[in-house]
Amino acid sequence: MDVRVRPMPMDTLVELVNGWGAEPRRAGARSHVPSRADHVHRAGLPPEVADRLTDADLADFADVVFGIFARPSTAERVERISALLTGLAIRPDLVIDGDRVRPVWLTAEDDALLAAALLALRAQVAEQDPGRLGICVDGGCADVYVDISPAGRRRFCSVQCQNRARAADYRRRHRAAR
Ligand SMILES: [Zn+2]
Repeated sequence: MDVRVRPMPMDTLVELVNGWGAEPRRAGARSHVPSRADHVHRAGLPPEVADRLTDADLADFADVVFGIFARPSTAERVERISALLTGLAIRPDLVIDGDRVRPVWLTAEDDALLAAALLALRAQVAEQDPGRLGICVDGGCADVYVDISPAGRRRFCSVQCQNRARAADYRRRHRAAR
């Protein structure tokens, strides 16, 4: 059965990858996944489709999308997004939502989560700055981020990781100076 999806909001995409992805969880030593309902209902899917997703579905999804962030260059990320999009059947469609006309896409229910994420990543790399997808450079973290800062020079997933790295750097320099 085909269902209608929208591009996943980027902050939700990041939360899903970091919450369920094997590598972000391993690096951050997180044994539990977040509450599913809080996250999947913001993912751009029909609610009944979101309700049927399991933790295993989300873990598989998160690892696939993490693999896009982990590619070392824009060219390789584009290649990966393109290959994944080509593997799904996604058709453009329209709906009336109140008095607004909105663009949506039709895809198979089993592909809906990945399709919503790929549509968002496609827009990010094609219409925004493609260099703004990243993985935190802190040694104890592998969380992904999308840099929305004006300067576009972000390297950490969060202020916490940035502060931790700064403090470690300070201690290193302090020790070296003695
Ligand atoms: Zn981090």
